[in-house]
Amino acid sequence: MSSRADRERAAMVQRLHARGIGDARVLDAMRQVPRERFVPPYVARAAYRDSPLPIGLDQTISAPLVVALSAAALQAGPDAHVLEIGTGSGYGAAVLSRCHRSVVTIERHPELADRAATVLAVLGYDNVEVRTGDGTLGAPDRAPFDGIVVTAMAEDEPPRALLDQLAPDAALVCPVGHLGHGTLVRYRAGRSEELGAVAFVPLVTGGAM
Ligand code: SAH
Repeated sequence: MSSRADRERAAMVQRLHARGIGDARVLDAMRQVPRERFVPPYVARAAYRDSPLPIGLDQTISAPLVVALSAAALQAGPDAHVLEIGTGSGYGAAVLSRCHRSVVTIERHPELADRAATVLAVLGYDNVEVRTGDGTLGAPDRAPFDGIVVTAMAEDEPPRALLDQLAPDAALVCPVGHLGHGTLVRYRAGRSEELGAVAFVPLVTGGAM
């Protein structure tokens, strides 16, 4: 017998597929990762809604479609070593960890980073390294990356340090815009490509909390 969460997860994946997500590894990952474990208990029943949800400290877990779009836009293979900026709940990192060899994820709020690291460890996602700090600086000691996902919104363009930590021909996916509304943009080999309208919390520059 499948649980309510299993059924909701399967329905979510069907909706993602219907809305144009065709990447089988991303869909498989999202069929596996228990999204309800990454949100606070008071919103767990809404975990599979097509919307962002509060995770505390004025931050949000991204909507499933945005997680899927960003992960698929990397176009990185199973052996890829990827970087995520904005760990938040840890859900995005968990999805990336099922698609790729290794994930480094950086969060500026120590409380969120600790909570995400705990859930990821409990669920056995041991190819994810959670760091606390200013993600705009990236992780030079672990670069180059075969893909970088930024899950908070930059005003004009992604931080230079992140573009410098991309392997040749690797993609960086970042929302760009103002006041919560923007466009998801893929940067690769010096070119940029708009992937669609998105809403995100701002990317804060200048240090950990
Ligand atoms: N990927 C997350 C979405 C989190 S929302 C998830 O799946 O839940 C974006 C996160 O980016 C917030 O937690 C915010 O604190 C964090 N953030 C914003 N600016 C940052 C920065 N400069 N470095 C690291 N994290 C940052």
